[in-house]
Amino acid sequence: MSESASGGRGVPVASAFAGMRSVTPVVFKAGCPDCRGRFELAASALRLAIGASSRTTFYSFTCPECGAAVRKPAGERIVELLTGGGVRTLRLHSTV
Ligand SMILES: [Zn+2]
Repeated sequence: MSESASGGRGVPVASAFAGMRSVTPVVFKAGCPDCRGRFELAASALRLAIGASSRTTFYSFTCPECGAAVRKPAGERIVELLTGGGVRTLRLHSTV
C-alpha cells in the first residue's frame, strides 16, 4: 500500500498576486524657463509626446508657479523614464 502525499507541488501563490503591483508615487524634478522655478511634478502632471523622430519627441507640463506651458525635448532616456513612471504618453502620428 502506497499512500501518496496529496497533490505534490503546491499551487503557486504568486499567481494570486499577479497584476497587483504596488504603485509607488513617482515624482519628476522639473524647472521652469519662464519663472525659473524648480519643483517636483507627479507623473500625472506631465505629458509625453512621442513623434516620428527624436526631434519631435518632447514632454510638457504646466508650471505650477507661473502657469506657463513648458515644453522640453525628451531624449530616449527621458522617454524611458517618463513612460516607466506612468506619465501619460501621446503618440504623434505623422503618417500621411
Ligand atoms: Zn514658471
